[in-house]
Amino acid sequence: MTTPMVVLLALQLLISFTRVAAIAFGLAGESQDVVAKSMTMLLTGITSATVVLASRRMTLPAARRAWLIVGLGAGANCLGDTLYLLVGMVTGETPFPSIADGAYLIYYPLILAGLLTFPQRARAPSERLKFWLDAITTTVGGGVVLWHFLIYPIAESQDATPMAAFVGAAYPVADLVLILGITTVTLRISDALGRWPLLLLGSAIVAFMVGDVAYGSLNVSGLYVAGQPITLLAEIPFQISYLLMALAAFVAAREARAATHDSTSTVQHARPLSSLPYLSIVLGYGVLVWASFGEVPDGIQGLILGVVLLTGLVVARQVVAVRENERLLTAQAERRSEARFSSLVQHATDVVTVIDEVGKVTYQTPSILRVFGHAPEMVLNTSFMQYVHPDDRERGWTLLEIARRQTGGETVIEWRIRHRDGRWRHVETMVANLLHDPDVAGLVLTSRDDTERRTLADQLRHQAFHDTLTGLANRALLEDRLEHALVRATRVGHPLAILFLDLDNFKTVNDSLGHGVGDQVLVAVSQRIRRVVRESDTSARFGGDEFVVLIENVCSMDELILVAERLLAACRTPFNVQGRETVIGCSIGIAVSEGGIETADELLRNADVAMFIGKEKGRGRYEIFEADMHSRIVERMELESDLRQAIERDEFVVHYQPIFSLETNRITGLEALVRWEHPQRGLIAPGAFIPRAEETGLIVPLGYRVLRQACRDARVWQDRFPTEPPLTVTVNLSVRQVDHPSCIDEVRAALAETGLPPNSLVLEITESFMIQDPEAAIVRLSHLKDLGVRLALDDFGTGFSSLSYLQRLPVDVLKVDKSFIDGMSTSSQGASLVQAILGLGDSLRLRTVAEGIEHADQLEQLRALRCGFGQGYFLSRPRDHEAIDALLTAHFGERAAA
Ligand code: C2E
Ligand code: MG
Ligand code: MG
Repeated sequence: MTTPMVVLLALQLLISFTRVAAIAFGLAGESQDVVAKSMTMLLTGITSATVVLASRRMTLPAARRAWLIVGLGAGANCLGDTLYLLVGMVTGETPFPSIADGAYLIYYPLILAGLLTFPQRARAPSERLKFWLDAITTTVGGGVVLWHFLIYPIAESQDATPMAAFVGAAYPVADLVLILGITTVTLRISDALGRWPLLLLGSAIVAFMVGDVAYGSLNVSGLYVAGQPITLLAEIPFQISYLLMALAAFVAAREARAATHDSTSTVQHARPLSSLPYLSIVLGYGVLVWASFGEVPDGIQGLILGVVLLTGLVVARQVVAVRENERLLTAQAERRSEARFSSLVQHATDVVTVIDEVGKVTYQTPSILRVFGHAPEMVLNTSFMQYVHPDDRERGWTLLEIARRQTGGETVIEWRIRHRDGRWRHVETMVANLLHDPDVAGLVLTSRDDTERRTLADQLRHQAFHDTLTGLANRALLEDRLEHALVRATRVGHPLAILFLDLDNFKTVNDSLGHGVGDQVLVAVSQRIRRVVRESDTSARFGGDEFVVLIENVCSMDELILVAERLLAACRTPFNVQGRETVIGCSIGIAVSEGGIETADELLRNADVAMFIGKEKGRGRYEIFEADMHSRIVERMELESDLRQAIERDEFVVHYQPIFSLETNRITGLEALVRWEHPQRGLIAPGAFIPRAEETGLIVPLGYRVLRQACRDARVWQDRFPTEPPLTVTVNLSVRQVDHPSCIDEVRAALAETGLPPNSLVLEITESFMIQDPEAAIVRLSHLKDLGVRLALDDFGTGFSSLSYLQRLPVDVLKVDKSFIDGMSTSSQGASLVQAILGLGDSLRLRTVAEGIEHADQLEQLRALRCGFGQGYFLSRPRDHEAIDALLTAHFGERAAA
């Protein structure tokens, strides 16, 4: 397909050769003008045809256009030759200038236009400015030379007409256009065009210029003779120029075929003539220097103007270069700092991620691989949220949205992010909004794996909120959970419940076996509790031996009762304490909050109250809180504190009820009965406060006051009213008192302090004392008995479980309960029951005292049954000290009188 071009090239070579040879051997002769011009015409025509043909084969449109224009340029020369020939044929000789010169001169701008049309190297605006400055510099430099040697001499030649001088000078001026063309080839045209075509094309233009200059010079010096070998000086460069131009187009067409180059290719070839501007400067100055030697030539002004222009261009070029340099240095510094920052970011321990507005990752540092195990390139262009824990996503979006709205400041998000291994890591992420920064255009997330710190914090928190011994939640955590649960309960409407559990026999274990064992029991209990309750329930150690279970979302009361029963069963199962099976047991109070209206404190207190009531009713059971429990407890609590105060303020007084010998009708003793002289409520009977005093243990200090007081009074009365045997005093002792370790010592001290003979003191205990542990009771009473005091069994007949113990008890007196005395008057059966009791007393050699004699007939019946002693309202009510004193004075005074 390149055949036509090859043929054309061969033809061109042949013609050139022939022509040059013809001239060289002087064969051109007179007619050379016609033949020569015909040959030249043929040559330029062939060149034009080759280039135009080649242009069709270019792949890049710009290159195709450019070559076409260049081809047309060659065509202009062909046109000139043709016109020259035609004019010559018509007029005999072609004049100078002629119409042909018009065509010849079109060659120059067309060539330049073609060259400027070639694809350019991709250039910055400053580069383009530099190119034009360089191009103009080269042109001006060349212009100075041409001016001095051709343009000025031609324009000033004496023998030429002004028109001839003008057109003649137009050729060297047009050569300036070619110089501009060469700089274009050298500095501007894209490398994509190929090295050889450019070199050939540039050389073609240079050769043409050489031809032009040679022709002009020969003409100016008058050496030019048509047809003579001397014309070869101009002829050969022109021939070479045409050849090179055709060859350049040919090679370019071949290369365009071989490879389709990208016009913006960055491959830069070294430009052999890039120093062209400097060369022209040197030439320009050189010519000036040359001209300044010898006589001052006429065209010196033009020279000076050219050189001044050159100097200005050099300065301008320098300014551009300096600015360029500055720009380069700044760019380099920027690149360095960018590189430094990028390296910092790339090697940072934190994970830096840039996401766009919709959460897509647009940049990711490699540290993500180390921290989260994900490959950075896998994360890129994916949604960041997919790595965030589903529960944290909504909050994450909200915070990202906040960060997106505010340009300044940083937002911190704490969320969980998935590691490649599937585990969730606790992460703290700082979000900076750089959406408006064109270099980043996104939200910058700087994330730090916080899991380790969080774990430690969790451990510390766990310690702060859990009981160190049992590992259960502690009181603080329970209260916190309860408060939150109450808030939820209000919102959701599901009831919640508190089970308050108190161990029944823990104190005994702890006191007798030591705290170490006590701790073991607590741990064992906590384990059992844990096994019974659900994972979602909170079990806590509330204090000492108290545990609390918080149950949320209670469906029914049955469910709670089931849990309570399981807990009771768990605690009832014996614990192995130091190789011994020990039953601990527990009591449970249940409090339910229906609508979450109670406070945490109230609910806990309610459960506690219910537990307390449960304990009272008998241990090892559960009790559900009821509203009135509270008032009951409150009353009790108040009573308790009142009692304490009363003991401190000594508000108790002792009244006495005389005990008569039914045989003699004489007073043989007095029973001390305590009364509370309440400042507001007046005198309170023992029934209203003794039970509470027993529960709280306050009976111990209270009882001893009564004991001392009674002993003191009895001693005084014994002295004032001496009888035989001496007056006795009877003091009631409660179970708690007898159980108390200091009991024996206290009784002994009271006797010693007051000087009352031990056998004048009768200590009354109730049968209930026997129920718990009869054997132990017998031992304790024996110890009391050893003091020399007498013992009485009060309220005999009510609830005694086994008569078999009676004979083993070290008692001296049986006090027949009032209920039997009451029954005596209503039925004969009652009377025989009293008779049986009296008979039992007799057989055991016990003194019998009938209690609560209210009527005369009761007294008569008792006398008839030979009951030894009696007391009752009928005989005498219990009276205060003064009244008894008076009574005794009257009683014994009467006798003394009698
Ligand atoms: P108790 O030891 O059986 O005392 C007899 C109670 O019967 C006394 O009631 C007495 O006032 C009452 N009483 C006596 N004769 C009659 C009668 O004919 N008819 C009626 N209806 N009642 C009669 P009080 O003083 O109210 O004492 C009640 C209980 O309080 C005593 O019963 C005793 O168990 C206990 N108590 C009184 N003082 C003390 C004390 O200092 N220490 C202890 N631990 N208990 C005491
Ligand atoms: Mg009594
Ligand atoms: Mg009694």
